[in-house]
Amino acid sequence: MEAVLSLPPLVIAGAALVVGVGLVYGWRTFQLCPHCGSLVRRVYRGWLRCGRCGRQYRRGLRLR
Ligand SMILES: [Zn+2]
Repeated sequence: MEAVLSLPPLVIAGAALVVGVGLVYGWRTFQLCPHCGSLVRRVYRGWLRCGRCGRQYRRGLRLR
């Protein structure tokens, strides 16, 4: 923790910003499979098949 505390506040703020942007980007890129809950690619049109449970899912199923 000493290494983290010794960092300049700007570096910490920048790291927090990167993490926040990464989370938003990841949330827009991926979604949770409505059947098994695994992380799958977000559907923009049509249907995709989940690689874990093999069932199809589509955008708009907001079960989680
Ligand atoms: Zn699934």
